[in-house]
Amino acid sequence: MSRTVLVINSGSSSIKYQLIDPDSGESLSSGVVERIGEESGRITHKYAGEKHTLEAPVPDHEVGLRQVIAACGKFGPDLAAAGVVAVGHRVVQGGSRFDKAIVLDEASTREIAELIPLAPLHNPANVTGIRTALEVFPDIPHVAIFDTAFFSDMPAYASTYALDKDVAERYKIRRYGFHGTSHAFVSREVARHLGRDDLKQIVLHLGNGASASAIDSGHPIDTSMGMTPLEGLMMGTRTGDIDPAIAFHLARVGHMRVGEIDSLFNERSGLKGVCGHNDMREVRELAAAGQADARLALDIYGHRIRKYIGSYAAALNGLDVITFTAGVGENDSDLRREVLEGLSFLGIELDRESNAQRTDGIRAISTPASKVTVLVVPTNEELSIARQAAELIES
Ligand code: ADP
Repeated sequence: MSRTVLVINSGSSSIKYQLIDPDSGESLSSGVVERIGEESGRITHKYAGEKHTLEAPVPDHEVGLRQVIAACGKFGPDLAAAGVVAVGHRVVQGGSRFDKAIVLDEASTREIAELIPLAPLHNPANVTGIRTALEVFPDIPHVAIFDTAFFSDMPAYASTYALDKDVAERYKIRRYGFHGTSHAFVSREVARHLGRDDLKQIVLHLGNGASASAIDSGHPIDTSMGMTPLEGLMMGTRTGDIDPAIAFHLARVGHMRVGEIDSLFNERSGLKGVCGHNDMREVRELAAAGQADARLALDIYGHRIRKYIGSYAAALNGLDVITFTAGVGENDSDLRREVLEGLSFLGIELDRESNAQRTDGIRAISTPASKVTVLVVPTNEELSIARQAAELIES
């Protein structure tokens, strides 16, 4: 009999969900509840090739989850018949405490809640989602999958900030890394595709948030996000790497409060800060129409990626494969070309034709003669969560 996992990703005002068969990888149904806590809410539910949209107020996450169940009852699939064996929750910050997926109960949920000071923008919503789901689905095991877990065994020289040791320990300041589910999934797909597990890999996860990782024989040795998802590459609305003294300057000279600087760096910077738009497709269109700020935003974005590739090739002392994934990485062939054409010193040869093609699945975009293989690999964080949840409840 087939079995499924309900994967839940709770944000502060949204719940994304997907019902997945962890064995076949098939996604049976998916959807999103949006605008939770606002005057008008919306649920978009997809099943059997059809999309249903309902507009109704969603005062809180519990109402949101109950609407998901109602949508499944009304439009399918029948949850009782779908054989749901586990609920898999995405949790952004696992701290030093959680280095792998865990089965959730009241005590472990409390421990995740205790990590809120480390991830005030993400963990509160994750915890609300877990608590609500534990009540709404009391008879099914719940599993937490942490974005940080894959990077928990990074070498100390990569995870430690050059900061006063006592202060760092007291406030749990270290580089945790994020998007770990995606970096783990994609790097394993690469190893499987190329039939080698001794690869020196760079994975570029370029979505709204963006991060790079350096992986040696399956083990991450560095990643671009740090204590929070703010560090590293330029992103849709986040600065990425920035001189920390800019925060002091804004406080001293601009009289900005901590919260304002936090929201400036996280929500009004990156592509949006430089050219007013955070959706890469819009930025590209504007740049093509000759808008200088959009062109500059793209140039910064590509320059950062090239710098990370160069530094990770050095950190790895060699490089076998670079992989592009997530919304921008999988779809923006111009960006991939702009990045790769500036890296000929690494012996990278882009196959322009394959790069421009749009196909599903894994594909190479480098020529056979290229010294470094370059791949496009679709990420699937939900499937990875579903598989980890199913594996854990079996063990
Ligand atoms: P999230 O981090 O929200 O999961 P995604 O991985 O879905 O993000 O990536 C979203 C980004 O992908 C957006 O900036 C979007 O503009 C970009 N994107 C999607 N399709 C394309 C495309 N065809 N060309 C360029 N960018 C694209």
